[in-house]
Amino acid sequence: MTNILFEDAKPVIKKIKEQGFEAYFVGGSVRDYLMDKDIHDIDITTSARPDEIEEMFSKTIPIGKEHGTINVLFHNKSYEITTFRTEGEYINHRKPNDVIFVRDLYEDVKRRDFTINAIAMDESYNIIDYFNGKDDIDAHNIKTVGNAVERFEEDALRIIRGLRFQSQLAFTLDNETFDGMLQQIQNIEYLSIERIIVEFKKLITGKNVAVSFKNLLTLNAFAYIPFFSHYDMRHIIIKEPLPFNLFIALIQSKLSNVNAQLAQLKISNNDKKEIQTFTQLLTVLQTINTKQELKLTIYDYGLQHNLTILSYSQTFKQNDIALPSPLIYNEQLLRQIAQEMPIKNRQELDITGKDLIDYLEQRSGPWIKDALRNIEIAVIDGNLTNYKPKILEWVKEHVKI
Ligand code: ATP
Ligand code: MG
Repeated sequence: MTNILFEDAKPVIKKIKEQGFEAYFVGGSVRDYLMDKDIHDIDITTSARPDEIEEMFSKTIPIGKEHGTINVLFHNKSYEITTFRTEGEYINHRKPNDVIFVRDLYEDVKRRDFTINAIAMDESYNIIDYFNGKDDIDAHNIKTVGNAVERFEEDALRIIRGLRFQSQLAFTLDNETFDGMLQQIQNIEYLSIERIIVEFKKLITGKNVAVSFKNLLTLNAFAYIPFFSHYDMRHIIIKEPLPFNLFIALIQSKLSNVNAQLAQLKISNNDKKEIQTFTQLLTVLQTINTKQELKLTIYDYGLQHNLTILSYSQTFKQNDIALPSPLIYNEQLLRQIAQEMPIKNRQELDITGKDLIDYLEQRSGPWIKDALRNIEIAVIDGNLTNYKPKILEWVKEHVKI
């Protein structure tokens, strides 16, 4: 069987070969192709050096040139082309900074993490499989290339990657590989949190996360990862894949007496914001009993965040986080409430702080914020029409300064 992405990339491989070099597809795309799964991006490995690749193609970007990777734009598609390499000395269980370019495919696949990721394929779909990765794919087996203890000792991120593949592919960890993980797990403390998070986001959204999460606990992995190390993660139950941000909010919400800084995760400000929104929303939801109270929550936190939480209600239940009764907290009612909302945000109020100052002839102060909030609540509750004269009337009666 052929695949459109490989077919598109064939001329790239051919062009490199015409110059007398070797070139193969390798890594995730070959693995996924052999599993009959959709492939997303194609990696090419070659005996040509980065300079030589740059000479061959007109549009190139040296995205990781010192590590051997050149991005090639060919017929409007981009390909990562990496020179065969072995890695230099590993320092502190991290990937080395220096790499050694080689001319031999075997040396290149030997440094790869798992047998299922170490299969090369030529442009005619012939497989070069030095470590029997295809057998492991067929057996659903995750196994390191070579000695597990040594490979995890070199780069402890491979432990997290192994669990990530277990979660995504629903494969089993080879016994020796798991033993290697047990022996080397403490070395993940030397990894940068950014590299861990990249893998962890894929792990937590994988279909087999229930098993991988249990393995993380068995390995006591969280004890060596910033932020998570503050929590006793054995209290967290994960049986279904969920978005990373929601996972963090679940931890913060369930183990709220722990003071761990989100900043330690070194994630984007947007992610941090969303996590805090989810965490606060989970706290509020645990106090809500009526449709009326729910209205304000949807106004404050938005329909989408509520729908997201609703769709993982099983997980929250398992973790003793009580959402409102399904009689009011259900998709139909959430959507209906959002639809009928008289205003979507404060900007839609028919009054401003300046109006209040002028009308009440008061000096500016913190009372404005409180007044606007109370007006907002009255409008959402349906006790006040969003119409300036009506609001001013209401203000006269209700706003105390
Ligand atoms: P995905 O489909 O999620 O991209 P992938 O297998 O392509 O999975 P990448 O992170 O894109 O994973 O890495 C590409 C390839 O590089 C891997 O298949 C593997 O051969 C190799 N690799 C990546 N990280 C490591 C590592 N830490 N140690 C050894 N080899 C690695
Ligand atoms: Mg990849």
